[in-house]
Amino acid sequence: MEDQKQPNGIPTEEDLALIHRYTRAQLAAQEVYVFQTVLCDNEIDRDGEQFPLASLQTLAELFPGKTGLFDHSGKSGDQVMRIYAAAVELQPERLNSAGEPYAALTGKVYLLRTEENAALIREIEGGIKKEVSVSCAVRRVRCSVCGETLRSCGHRKGESYEGRRCWAILEEPTDAYEFSFVAIPAQPGAGVIKRKKGRGGADAARLAELERLAEDGRAYRAELLAKTLRAGGAALPELDRDLLEGMCAHLEARQLAQLRETLETCAAKSLPLRPQLNARGPQGEYDGYRF
Ligand SMILES: [Zn+2]
Repeated sequence: MEDQKQPNGIPTEEDLALIHRYTRAQLAAQEVYVFQTVLCDNEIDRDGEQFPLASLQTLAELFPGKTGLFDHSGKSGDQVMRIYAAAVELQPERLNSAGEPYAALTGKVYLLRTEENAALIREIEGGIKKEVSVSCAVRRVRCSVCGETLRSCGHRKGESYEGRRCWAILEEPTDAYEFSFVAIPAQPGAGVIKRKKGRGGADAARLAELERLAEDGRAYRAELLAKTLRAGGAALPELDRDLLEGMCAHLEARQLAQLRETLETCAAKSLPLRPQLNARGPQGEYDGYRF
């Protein structure tokens, strides 16, 4: 990366001390790869949104410890990096589109020099993975034209009003979630940065919704597993329950449902007919294999 200070990505002792705040094990310098990157800046981006300097300063406090995603496969969950320090760097001689001195939030990032990360490290070193997107929540979104809350004032991002451009000023960040490398640079002015951000309330609600869904998912899976084990016991009484449970642990919910269905079909074939009364489970669902 152009901002990289450490040669060859080797952390200094100072870096290591900061990194160790986030690791369980004490790592040797050669086990870690570090680089520095611009996370976001105070330029108005392509979406007509801008972080003022104060927001960048708050984000500098919120980002350390947050993970970075390397979305190579298009699947999420590749959390391979972590920010161990962040700071706002001012370039007073350079002005942004709003006429303010340019400021950028830079993050120092570490990842482990594992076999899985080797390709990513090569891409970072080669300057390929430079585009960064950050995800955070802000409490207030203010209109650049009138200073009021953007959605209530009637002005629209990207429009001009008597020669004054309207953009969204993202104020009072409340949380920083993650950053990720993205493939397409979206902010030609700043070169390499694209942001995606949540809005305070809406984002918190979305997170709560996701947590609720995850909770539902866990409950659904537990119920599905119980039914599969029950069906397994009925269909294949010789099959060890722990063995079946161990096998189920590796299945996706969809596969588990399929297995349950198959076992239930087998069980139904091997079981004598039961009175209708017993054919319904506690939830009114067909469940002929209760014992
Ligand atoms: Zn306005």
